[in-house]
Amino acid sequence: MSHPRSTRSVAGIVTSLRTREGGGFIVHRPFPTPMLMDFDPFLLLDEMGPVRYGPGEAVGAPDHPHRGFETVTYVLDGKMQHKDSHGHAGSLGPGDVQWMTAGAGVVHSEMPEENFRKQGGLMHGFQIWVNLPSRDKMMKPRYQELPDAQLPVAESADGRVKVKIIAGESLGKRAAIDTRTPIAFLHVWVQPGGTLWQSLPENYSAFVYVISGAGAFGPRRAVATSHQMVAFANDGETLEISNAADSREPLELLLLGGVPLNEPVVRYGPFVMNTEAEIHQAVLDYQSGKMGEIDF
Ligand code: MN
Repeated sequence: MSHPRSTRSVAGIVTSLRTREGGGFIVHRPFPTPMLMDFDPFLLLDEMGPVRYGPGEAVGAPDHPHRGFETVTYVLDGKMQHKDSHGHAGSLGPGDVQWMTAGAGVVHSEMPEENFRKQGGLMHGFQIWVNLPSRDKMMKPRYQELPDAQLPVAESADGRVKVKIIAGESLGKRAAIDTRTPIAFLHVWVQPGGTLWQSLPENYSAFVYVISGAGAFGPRRAVATSHQMVAFANDGETLEISNAADSREPLELLLLGGVPLNEPVVRYGPFVMNTEAEIHQAVLDYQSGKMGEIDF
């Protein structure tokens, strides 16, 4: 099954910084940090929590704008409520994905859902920022909402590997989502003794983010554990991901891949463009109300 000559080596392992975002919620962030500004075409990965809130304690990110990229929200535990300046509202529960293409600009809020906030509970999820190529940065905003039940799940023949396919394909199944540039986004569970050989085109940059357990990665079996990111080199087409046979817990991770844009990245908070002038314009457009407001 394995093809050693085309198995990608591990370029580096990055430990997340623990910081606060939005209204004060804890995130684990492998990038952007001073050590790693981005991972083209990905601009940010935040693991939200996991955190257990008491009644009335849960916080989120009140009204704020975005322009020039996509925000992908994936909830594992808890419930979030989303509203935006185009009159769109929705809630996200465990296993649900929202893929928002901010394009030319939206103002949105990402808050705990009201009943969840009242009752408290475990909140755990991810937000990933996917850059848009220059030609798409000013596109009309759009949403793709993918409830858990619509996301394909595949299993390996030995039953030791399960993959939920959010974007791209794995183990013979393919996601329904439409991405502006080719993206792979997989949620992977590997039982002790299991191995996933995941093919990706050689021009994709790719990394793994470990949610729980410990994994062995690449031909030299580099070890990474929770809150660590494993960056793969672009030196093959197969990613090798294993959980040791004597491991006592499952390995759970996200796998992300995409074709690098190789364009200049100029970022200013919630705006990511190609030039300083475009950032200046984004700030002006936001301040003059051109990205709208949430009025419901
Ligand atoms: Mn946001």
